[in-house]
Amino acid sequence: MPTSLVTGGAGFLGSHLCDELLRRGHRVICVDNLETGTLANIEHIRDQGFIHLNLDIIEPYYVEEPIDFVYHLASPASPIDYLRLPLHTLKVGSYGTHHTLGLAKKHRARFLLASTSEVYGDPQEHPQRETYWGHVNPIGPRGVYDEAKRYAEALTMAYHRQQGVDTAIVRIFNTFGPKMRPHDGRAIPTFLRQALQNRPITVFGDGSQTRSFCYVEDEVRGLIALAESGYHYPVNVGNPDEYTLLELAEAVIEVTGASSEIVFEALPIDDPQVRQPDISLAREILGWEPTIDLREGLRRTIEQSGRDNLSGGGT
Ligand code: NAD
Repeated sequence: MPTSLVTGGAGFLGSHLCDELLRRGHRVICVDNLETGTLANIEHIRDQGFIHLNLDIIEPYYVEEPIDFVYHLASPASPIDYLRLPLHTLKVGSYGTHHTLGLAKKHRARFLLASTSEVYGDPQEHPQRETYWGHVNPIGPRGVYDEAKRYAEALTMAYHRQQGVDTAIVRIFNTFGPKMRPHDGRAIPTFLRQALQNRPITVFGDGSQTRSFCYVEDEVRGLIALAESGYHYPVNVGNPDEYTLLELAEAVIEVTGASSEIVFEALPIDDPQVRQPDISLAREILGWEPTIDLREGLRRTIEQSGRDNLSGGGT
């Protein structure tokens, strides 16, 4: 029975990954200090093969028992969180990634870094392929997240090339599903919360900027397929169906049956104009592609979360 360690395992994506690894018969060690995650995401797990260690990975840490896979997901991920925690975000991407790579090295485990489409910045190439080096503002407010992830990618390749660690890098594009926090500031939970309260839906800018949304079940399947492959270079894992933010707002209104109007707010600094993964590489080397489209994913999110939980009880 393989053992997987998941940093950030009590977060949105990490907790779905823990569930799926357990379902596939792994033992799972979840390392999470609950900075942006919550015990509520993992408290349903009754499996004997699951443990949660409340550790801050910015400090050196060690785990005695043998580990086969390390999934390194710990990092604030929503703009609301990383703008509130700029130094923490830089430290978790740097020290936290060093410590976690060191752990993978000691255990001779396969290491997977959860990187992000944000390494492409406000892209000048569309759709984004893994060979594109990106267009990032290092000194803007979002730089703390984007550059932490770019540094973590460089570090991962250095541990691979110099230290012989078996590493992989996944560039995750916007992912959604149950367990997203209604107030975490990302578009889908915000729009769902507003629609389920029949309040106005707040779209940034004129809503013409695009995003591509992957349902969490598809994303998790892609992460595991990459971890179980022998590939070392970055791979995009996301849904290539591209929507403008205005189209997303309309889809949310349609699926929820809300009577909300759409209102427009100022665009955040350095908000990327377009976002769409080219997933040819994932198709070719992993045989992976998403199967759940936006509207179906929204329906599943509402069904599994419950309307009351998604509406968040506030504005
Ligand atoms: P999340 O905030 O829900 O989860 C992150 C988890 O990391 C939280 O549980 C948090 O408590 C934990 N954590 C943070 N700092 C820590 C520390 N110092 N020590 C231990 N644990 C710590 O975010 P998420 O959406 O689940 O994202 C998970 C990963 O996937 C992140 O690395 C993120 O950059 C990446 N990613 C996510 C998306 C997305 O759309 N959700 C897109 C691109 C990349």
